[in-house]
Amino acid sequence: DLPTSDAVISAEEAHVAHNYHPLPVVVAEGEGSWVTDVEGKRYLDLLSAYSALNFGHRHPALVAAATAQLGRLTLTSRAFHNDRLGAFAAALAELSGKDMVLPMNTGAEAVETGIKVARAWAYRVKGVPEGRAKILVASGNFHGRTTTIVGFSDDPQARDGFGPFAPGFEIVPYGDAAALTAAIDDDTAAVLIEPIQGEAGVVIPPDGYLRAVREACTAANVLFIADEIQSGLGRVGTTFACEREGVVPDLYLLGKALGGGILPVSAVVGDRDVLGVIHPGEHGSTFGGNPLAAAVGLAVVEMLATGDLQRRALALGDHLRARLEPLIGAGVTGIRVAGLWAGVDIDPAKGAGREVAERLLARGVLVKDTHGQTIRMAPPLVIRATEIDWAVEQLRLALAD
Ligand code: PLP
Repeated sequence: DLPTSDAVISAEEAHVAHNYHPLPVVVAEGEGSWVTDVEGKRYLDLLSAYSALNFGHRHPALVAAATAQLGRLTLTSRAFHNDRLGAFAAALAELSGKDMVLPMNTGAEAVETGIKVARAWAYRVKGVPEGRAKILVASGNFHGRTTTIVGFSDDPQARDGFGPFAPGFEIVPYGDAAALTAAIDDDTAAVLIEPIQGEAGVVIPPDGYLRAVREACTAANVLFIADEIQSGLGRVGTTFACEREGVVPDLYLLGKALGGGILPVSAVVGDRDVLGVIHPGEHGSTFGGNPLAAAVGLAVVEMLATGDLQRRALALGDHLRARLEPLIGAGVTGIRVAGLWAGVDIDPAKGAGREVAERLLARGVLVKDTHGQTIRMAPPLVIRATEIDWAVEQLRLALAD
């Protein structure tokens, strides 16, 4: 017998730290773009676990890869080799057009790893004096929740009360290439940015920004680190959001969808002249590169290698944009769409983003608000056009409620 939603929520309230404020739905099953709660009500999932479920819930190819690997070997630690990691790393490197992969688990770990690699590269290759390496980050950034990472956030909710913070970071305005270029000096190791800012509300920088960042980094011998943890792996209609401007960063930070929605898998991907600066004993993770993660990650990469899902995201993204546009002026004040990813700004007269998310929940659509008035839509890339139509109709009705 399944417990009721109320019972589950009460148990969570009592025994789970209140570091989240979930919508009041208790999901028990999922398949493709749909989930079912403990009472049997179905919902269309337009959040996809913040893009970790790009391939939908329990994609058959990914479940098959995980199940097969569960029957063979799950964990060795990197004290030994396992027979899955090499194939995964080779495939991911090829998909990314790079030489090497440093496997980790969560997104925040990939970011921390990118920071360590950039500093080591600055001291050992670029010649920055020890202890002086600087990393430029952008206003409005979101790179995770570790103390170092929240230390260079400009969101008071993310950072207030958690200091002291690590030095060595400088915030420049997002989307302003001139400000970024002006902030680069001899001690600058890297520029770390999201090519599209997810948590900020799907904020797309002005055209040419990523190209200008690339040029500024190349000119000053600075690493360009693209945090593609939320934007990458098909979401925006290309494998990486950087491709929208034909730009190749020095390091990709990947996570979320890399684990196929099955387990946490993240990676830093780059060329040998950069990732090669890390030597044995300097960095690691008990679970990073484990054979189960590698088996699922390889299946993810194989799915992306055909390009089918990227093309699908592009076409369905155009469809989503066309459906959302008529809502501007009718409860929506603005939209930002990149592939199958949309930030929808809600007219405060219609309520806060959270209230609209709750009304959508009652109508069988799962979304999550961000920064007060914005609703983010990141449907699984396997969603159907007719399902998008239905979901946007629910939004129209929720704004009329
Ligand atoms: N970087 C970006 C751009 C993200 O969107 C996120 C998570 O939302 C992270 C890093 C952190 O990933 P994780 O929650 O797996 O640590």
